[in-house]
Amino acid sequence: MSTVAFIGLGNMGSPMARRLIDAGYEVRGFDLSDDARAGLVDASGLAFESPAEAIAGASTVILMLPNSNIVESVITDTEVTAAIDDDTMVIDMSSSEPLRTKALEQLLASAGVRLVDAPVSGGVKGAETGTLTIMVGANDQDFDRASEVLRHLGTVRHAGQVGAGHAAKALNNLMSATHLLVSSEAIHTGCRFGIDPELLLQIVNGSSGRSGSTENKWPNFILPETYDSGFALKLMVKDMKIAVELANQVGIEAALGNSAVELWEQAAHALPDTADHTEIARWVSEMSNL
Ligand code: NAD
Repeated sequence: MSTVAFIGLGNMGSPMARRLIDAGYEVRGFDLSDDARAGLVDASGLAFESPAEAIAGASTVILMLPNSNIVESVITDTEVTAAIDDDTMVIDMSSSEPLRTKALEQLLASAGVRLVDAPVSGGVKGAETGTLTIMVGANDQDFDRASEVLRHLGTVRHAGQVGAGHAAKALNNLMSATHLLVSSEAIHTGCRFGIDPELLLQIVNGSSGRSGSTENKWPNFILPETYDSGFALKLMVKDMKIAVELANQVGIEAALGNSAVELWEQAAHALPDTADHTEIARWVSEMSNL
């Protein structure tokens, strides 16, 4: 049986680890949270008290952590690097920063460790149902090897060399966040004019203004006022900033992206740290009075 070490068992990592267990992998996991580790044991995985213990003996290491800082601190820890076998592949499925991923790949390669990036889109539901879109940055050989595990989690797309997966993910979320922002302004405007919001969504979803926000986020989390998509607002802001920084690094001003980041950051300051990203719609409604 192939062994996967899974580090980061949060909203996404937990259901992804479960899918690998269901596919027949031995999953050895670590998370700082006691509840997350207990959840893995309930799903017939093996939980450990440190990342190094979880990684020992695994042929693949998957990281599903909040950001590049945490990814780097976990994977460059000396106990962790000592625990990684020569033939082990590290797959960073977190939404990390592409240039830092490229630098990390070089650093790990000098210690004989291969790193590929494979961030995802599709949310908690996609993680639970194995229908994520997985954006891989890797050379052809590593892509083939990583795909053997990743295919159990969703549709695997080869974005380019290391870092390209993380770039594609950040750019996707910049678009997604901007759609959500402008759809919030538009739908609140329609409501004030007297159009039923469900009817407006039906019209838009049959028209050219539709997006993931109008097809999924508005009907499932915003209109029912549950705001429980499982994707934190602060993580969306992190992704948007990665995308805008990337644009600047390649010489693109990203004027609209910068404006969107500014508004999302205002929302992040106004809302609790735990706010779901769909709460941006409620915030827009409160803030948009003339
Ligand atoms: P989350 O906050 O629910 O989970 C992160 C987990 O990492 C937590 O359980 C936390 O305890 C753990 N963690 C933090 N530091 C750690 C450390 N040093 N060692 C071990 N565990 C540690 O976040 P999430 O929603 O699962 O997102 C994970 C990543 O996936 C992020 O990069 C996010 O941007 C991305 N992502 C999330 C979604 C979503 O819908 N939630 C969708 C696509 C991508």
